[in-house]
Amino acid sequence: MPRLLRFAVWSCILSVVAPSWAVGADDARKAPEKNVVEKKATATKSPEAKPEKSSAAKKPADADKSAGPKKTDDAKKPAAPPKKNPREYVSGKKWNEPTVITPGAEPAAPPSDAIILFDGKDLTKEFVDADEWTVADGVATVAGSKSVKTRRSFGSCQLHIEWAAPAKVNGTGQGRGNSGAYLMNTYEVQILDSYENETYFDGQAASIYKQKPPLVNACRKPGEWQTYDIIFTAPKFADDGKLVSPAYVTVLHNGVLVQNHFELAGGTYFDRPPAYAKHAPKLPLQLQNHGNPMRFRNIWIREL
Ligand code: MG
Repeated sequence: MPRLLRFAVWSCILSVVAPSWAVGADDARKAPEKNVVEKKATATKSPEAKPEKSSAAKKPADADKSAGPKKTDDAKKPAAPPKKNPREYVSGKKWNEPTVITPGAEPAAPPSDAIILFDGKDLTKEFVDADEWTVADGVATVAGSKSVKTRRSFGSCQLHIEWAAPAKVNGTGQGRGNSGAYLMNTYEVQILDSYENETYFDGQAASIYKQKPPLVNACRKPGEWQTYDIIFTAPKFADDGKLVSPAYVTVLHNGVLVQNHFELAGGTYFDRPPAYAKHAPKLPLQLQNHGNPMRFRNIWIREL
């Protein structure tokens, strides 16, 4: 091919191909830039876009989702079964339905499921060794030499007792208006005329005898009726006599909390430190005869 013709042919080819090369190279150079710009745009957009998405776009959608069924549930609430919340904790324990009882009309009146230990008529019906005590006008008065014990045995319980010290003060300290409620015939909640009557604190009214004074002295005057409401948890023992769980007692004296879930260190004794000794899971309740003409009425108990 002549030289001039070859030049003409190549020029022609180049004129066709070169622009596309140029564009391709330009695109290749620009492409990353374009990407960066786009990324930048996305990056700058994203923080704004996010809230837009979550608040403006997503939230309404979510809100619609959550609001939708709620509205439906609310509308159908009386008829529809409760929707189970997947986050709800369910213990899996099978409880018996709590028994429905009728509370007493008066705070001190026995509820319908209480065992009446003394209703003001006959102390011997529920107590042994009660022959010497006198009953008159709905009131039992300590007399003779014996303490009285319930015929039935009890473990954990709620106990209500109304008591009154003699109106005529006689004696001092432990010798004045002394009696006691011995839970399980072993653990004494002290009954004493502690109205302006000095004695050791862990021996005054509503003390756990020799173990714990009451939180406050809520005693009424001698002769006035007073109430004890006692919640008692019986101790538990292993077969070998070892203590498995101690006794606990809560006491309200005239409606005032004076012992708050107190853990007993054992039996309450006059002459020795408290100590546990294995005993039956249920034992009688004792009302102490300490030689003072203490009066009692309206005694009832609920087993727990
Ligand atoms: Mg006593």
